[in-house]
Amino acid sequence: MASMIHRLQRIVQEVNRAPDIDRALVMITESLTRDLTADACTIFLASKDDPEVMVLQASSGLNPDIIGKVERRMGQGLIGTIAAKAEAMNLTDAPAHKKFLLVPDSGEVDFPILLGVPIIAHRDVLGVIAVQRAENVFNEDEEAYLTTLAAQLATSIERAESQGRFSTQQATHMIKGVAGAPGMAIGVALVLNRGVNLESVPDKKTSDIEGDLHSFRQAVRKASDELTALAEKMRATLPEEECALFLAYAQMLSGGSLIDDTEKSINAGNWAPSSWRDTVEQHAHVFSQMEDRYLAERANDIRDLGLRVLRKLMLEQSTYIDFPDKTILVGDEVTATDLADVPTDCLSGIVSAHGSSSSHVAILAHALGIPAVMGVPNLPVKQLDGVELVVDGYNGSAFINPDKRVLDEYNQYLEEEAAIEQDLIGLKNEPAITTDKHQISLLVNSGLMSDYTPSLRSGARGVGLYRTEIPFQIRDRFPSEEEQYQIYRSVLETFRGMPVVLRTLDVGGDKPLSYFPINEANPFLGWRGIRITLDHPEIFITQVRAMIRANIGVNNLEILLPMISGRSELEEALSFINRVRDEIEEESGEKILLPQIGAMIEVPSAVYQIEDICRLVDFVSIGTNDLTQYLLAVDRNNENVAELYSSLHPAVLKAMCQIVEGAAVNDTPVSVCGELAGDPLGVMALLGMGIDSLSMSVGSLLRAKKVIVSFSYSELLELLQQALTMSDAFAIREMYARKLDERGLGGLIRAGK
Ligand code: PEP
Ligand code: MG
Repeated sequence: MASMIHRLQRIVQEVNRAPDIDRALVMITESLTRDLTADACTIFLASKDDPEVMVLQASSGLNPDIIGKVERRMGQGLIGTIAAKAEAMNLTDAPAHKKFLLVPDSGEVDFPILLGVPIIAHRDVLGVIAVQRAENVFNEDEEAYLTTLAAQLATSIERAESQGRFSTQQATHMIKGVAGAPGMAIGVALVLNRGVNLESVPDKKTSDIEGDLHSFRQAVRKASDELTALAEKMRATLPEEECALFLAYAQMLSGGSLIDDTEKSINAGNWAPSSWRDTVEQHAHVFSQMEDRYLAERANDIRDLGLRVLRKLMLEQSTYIDFPDKTILVGDEVTATDLADVPTDCLSGIVSAHGSSSSHVAILAHALGIPAVMGVPNLPVKQLDGVELVVDGYNGSAFINPDKRVLDEYNQYLEEEAAIEQDLIGLKNEPAITTDKHQISLLVNSGLMSDYTPSLRSGARGVGLYRTEIPFQIRDRFPSEEEQYQIYRSVLETFRGMPVVLRTLDVGGDKPLSYFPINEANPFLGWRGIRITLDHPEIFITQVRAMIRANIGVNNLEILLPMISGRSELEEALSFINRVRDEIEEESGEKILLPQIGAMIEVPSAVYQIEDICRLVDFVSIGTNDLTQYLLAVDRNNENVAELYSSLHPAVLKAMCQIVEGAAVNDTPVSVCGELAGDPLGVMALLGMGIDSLSMSVGSLLRAKKVIVSFSYSELLELLQQALTMSDAFAIREMYARKLDERGLGGLIRAGK
């Protein structure tokens, strides 16, 4: 069985590396015919124009002339039946089956034994793989092997197929992910090259063939010198054969097809790194197809050599990145630190293959007012550099190479959006008050210096959540007490006279610190937030000292504790805070006020202990981002389950009602600081619960205010009662969206008015 797994891995790797879908399919049919000692192998894939029709895309062992010419509708013939039933078929005599439909001139009459399995990805039947033999029925192991392979290949085929569609880079193509941060942008994609590897090199044309040839030759020379030096150095410690390997590598770089093919590609106008990548892949592929295990392993040597040269080449070329005026940052996984690499006046949008609306990069984008589309399956990252894109952060879609119709439409939307913004600006100094005079307190979420000014200008009543982990994340060591003091002092002073809620360090989960690595199988259920800081009192105490010192003379600090899951964590944290206050009082000889202290309610266990928790704190703040992920058991960053993630899910709404009721017993104020607080539909639901303090990204503030001033408190109370009778998050969202539309406010949640 080990060899089966080995073969399986090899096929999947080959397919993932194939330059296009056609080559990938040929590889699969050839490998399968060999591995299963079959006489023929065919792959049918659903047609791009009509998913009900499958077309023969590749075959081995049959007449090649029929490729592209045989079609089967769902349910038609054996192939169509396998697809329609989404089930494997293993037949000893295929022609005897009532569904059998002969493919004339194919040669299949000679191979009556047939095993076919459907290829399914994300619930869609993409096609069917079938193998055929003249004799010897396919046994159970072989059936299991083909089923396993089809399941693994489905994602690769889906990716290869969707990437193949962009190869001409001509037609407009819409891609769909999840809405990350609202807004729209028209701009040019920039693919960041984080961590050089062959797979991540984007396709590009060069405008300077001579320059690219020169940097390629330089890189090859440097890599070759390095290898020769390495062989010399190793001679003392390694046996002669091992040293010979380095010399053999150097030899491969001294001329021959690796170099010639790359130079040919550069001369044809391709960028040096992508030319090198293609040559290395082609050579590695030839080796990996070899039956001889030893020679097949040499494919890895070629890739290793390829990487060595690539690193040198990237260094030669990386001196200067030309940021387009309207840069759309594109990547497999765009991170919060990637945002910092792009000058703020150029950054217009984000498209990321991974992540979802509550990933921290999306939250940051929201704070910066940058539209983001997250979790786009099969995003053809490599082919997007320099390509024009339209990003729609409202519905989570983007258009590659938008045509005039799409551009006109989005230019129109952008104009309408500008008109809405203009209208919203008028609300800046207006109170956030419902039509029946119920006052709501609107605060901002912060963590970056750059949001202070917009936050102040937005008319916010203070900072409802300052994520202190952000200044921790952009350093390469823990910030000292003095550094933290400066940061906290600056925000407390900027918002003098208004409350500023500083949250203690909330790292772990998806918020790593480069200098404090945590490796866990389940980071969101692991060492996170208060759990880390209570285990490291030195970090907690330093932070609380900096906060309390920064508050002297300003007196607007409130401290918020993240990830509280029970009473004992709270008691421990409170005792540290009290100790710090006493120490500072003693050191300064001044009376030091104990700030208001709150707990985040974002872990389900805290919901059920809300009364207990409220007896210990001055306020609670609901973190809907985590509360939703923990209640629904849906990872907030995982695009595979992003559709299941909804803070308007009835279970989340009921939990929040329970928090509000429990907190009322002690008259403990409740606010909300998760993303739901800035979602116009969320605002409607939260007000309906009687919550009157919301903290959100600054970009959402005026939209939230518009909702508040457009509804009466009493109707929102009623709408919530209606929502609580519904059993489905989608229906609740629809109901609120309809109400918003009826007020003419649909433009707050989608592109266009
Ligand atoms: C939350 O979980 O809702 C929250 C506000 O905290 P964070 O998004 O930083 O985890
Ligand atoms: Mg949280």
